Amino acid sequence: MAAQVPGVAGRLETVSGRILDAAREAGREAGAITTVVVTKFHPAALVCELYGLGVRDFGESRHQEAQPKIAELADLHATWHFVGQLQSKKARQVREYSQVLHSLDRESLVDALAGVEPRRVFIQVNLTGDPQRGGAAPTAVDALADRVASTAGLELLGLMAVAPLGAEPREAFARVRGLSERLRERHPTASAMSMGMSGDFREAILEGATHLRIGTAITGNRPEHG
Ligand SMILES: *Cc1c(COP(=O)(O)O)cnc(C)c1O
Repeated sequence: MAAQVPGVAGRLETVSGRILDAAREAGREAGAITTVVVTKFHPAALVCELYGLGVRDFGESRHQEAQPKIAELADLHATWHFVGQLQSKKARQVREYSQVLHSLDRESLVDALAGVEPRRVFIQVNLTGDPQRGGAAPTAVDALADRVASTAGLELLGLMAVAPLGAEPREAFARVRGLSERLRERHPTASAMSMGMSGDFREAILEGATHLRIGTAITGNRPEHG
């Protein structure tokens, strides 16, 4: 008999096991690590399936897709994380349906994200040196953090980063850890680190990640999109 193709449940179990292994290797509590399952390009039905398997934290990255999908899923008691680049004109709408924003990267977004309902934010750091990539330059983090901390309705959780293509992920995440330590001198509660994706979450856990953003390793390949 042919080996069964693992479905979402099997992949979720496999990834959860690998997270436990990495946490043990790092001498950390796996319970202190939040796995955000990134469901971009996948239909609401997949979110429901994952919800049925116990997942409560979901990530989306494109406003035009996330807004209707999350509206359709309003009955779930889920936490929605926005992990994609924030467009200035859409930031206020993204805030409406996302409880956690991972990609704040410039001061001009802060006013749009202010509001009455509290929102948690990560400052995204650009580790590439290429300003076209999302994320604030490491040198811009302090000023941005001060802005967030003094804005009503925003709680600064910490830093978010994507390991640059072709770079050694462990080194990239070690850099984030260093930047996080520096940030905590000014903002002691901003200790969270959103880093680690399907291909590099072990390295991220070893460097102290508190929030993993995992897509394909759990969802399977994303459907074709235009
Ligand atoms: C798509 C995406 C992820 C998940 O990527 P996978 O490689 O599928 O795990 C994580 N973070 C961001 C910002 C993304 O856009």
